[in-house]
Amino acid sequence: MLKSLFQSGGRGPGPKRWTSMVTKAWSPPGGPDVARSAVQRVESGAPLAGFRTSGAGIQPGVEPQDINELDKLRAAAAGCTRCPLYAPATQTVFGEGPADAWLVLVGEQPGDREDRAGEPFVGPAGRILDEALEAAGIAREKTYLTNAVKHFKFETRGKRRIHQKPNASEIRACRPWLDAELRILRPNVLATLGATAAQALLGPSFRVGKQRGQVMDWGDGLTLVPTVHPSSIVRIPDREDRDAAFRALVADLEVARAQAPRGRA
Ligand code: SF4
Repeated sequence: MLKSLFQSGGRGPGPKRWTSMVTKAWSPPGGPDVARSAVQRVESGAPLAGFRTSGAGIQPGVEPQDINELDKLRAAAAGCTRCPLYAPATQTVFGEGPADAWLVLVGEQPGDREDRAGEPFVGPAGRILDEALEAAGIAREKTYLTNAVKHFKFETRGKRRIHQKPNASEIRACRPWLDAELRILRPNVLATLGATAAQALLGPSFRVGKQRGQVMDWGDGLTLVPTVHPSSIVRIPDREDRDAAFRALVADLEVARAQAPRGRA
C-alpha cells in the first residue's frame, strides 16, 4: 500500500507534501528521517530496499552461501532480517566496487550518511579513506569497499542518530554476507579497517593497536593487512596528532599495496 502511494506520486502533490503525508501516516522505527529517505529514494528511482517491499530479499531456503553473483547477493541482502539492525535503519548498505578488485577494504558498519545514501564510505571517514588511498598510491576505483555489518546501528538523541558499536551476535549474523562477497570477489588482498572488522575475521583476541600493518596469510591465496578505521582519525582533535595518525594509516595501506599483483594497484 505504501509503495502504491509513492508510485502514484507523479499525479499527486510535490515532494514536501509527500513527506508530510507519509510521516503523518506512517511512523516507522527511525522516525521521520526514514520516511524522508523513502520519498527521496522513490523520486530518484532507487529501489525501496530498506522497506521490505515485495521482490527484494532472500527467497525462502536461499542463503548467502548459495548465491554466486554479486548483483544477486546485493539484492538478497537488501531484504535481510537476520538480526534486529534492519528495523530502524534506512536500508542495507552493501559493498561497492568492481568485481575484479584486487583489494577489498572492510570497515565496521555504515554510518549516518552511508545509511541515508545507501553507499559505503561516503561520509567524513570515507573522505579520509579516499585521501589515504590516494597518498598510498591505490586507485579507489580498483578497490571494493564493504563493512562487516551492513546496517547502521544507532541510538537517537534528539534529532541526532549516534553510532553504536555492533555486538558479537550482530557481527556473527552478518558474517555470511561478507564471506559470500569474498568468495565471489576472490581478491588478492583484504584490508580490515578498525577493531570490529579485524575481530570479525580474526577473532576477539585481535588487537589492532599491536597488529596493524602486519601482513597475514588468510589462506586460499588471500593476504590480510589490518589497519585502523578512518573514523578514528576524524575524531582526533589535535591537528598534529591527526596528521600523524593519517600518515600511519597511509603507511599501513602502502603495506597492502605492496601485496598487489604487478600493475593492479
Ligand atoms: S546487519 Fe547484516 S545480518 Fe543484520 S539485518 Fe543487516 S544485513 Fe542482515
